[in-house]
Amino acid sequence: MVFNLIRKLTFYQNMLEHFFSCPYCGAGISMLLDPSIFSQQYIEDCEVCCNPIDINYSVEDGMVMEFNAISIEQ
Ligand SMILES: [Zn+2]
Repeated sequence: MVFNLIRKLTFYQNMLEHFFSCPYCGAGISMLLDPSIFSQQYIEDCEVCCNPIDINYSVEDGMVMEFNAISIEQ
């Protein structure tokens, strides 16, 4: 039991879970961010409507400082 709890906490320390809404269909999306990468930008397809979302974020001291999810057709 205790061992399982420690493993779970370690997992969340290594990855940051972030929630945002799809800019196309508004679906709530949960995403795991890697806090060891200070700044990242990439395209991710929405799980619901399959449209490409332009995601960029920056992480500092294990916290998400900035997060943007926008449609690439603007
Ligand atoms: Zn969508």
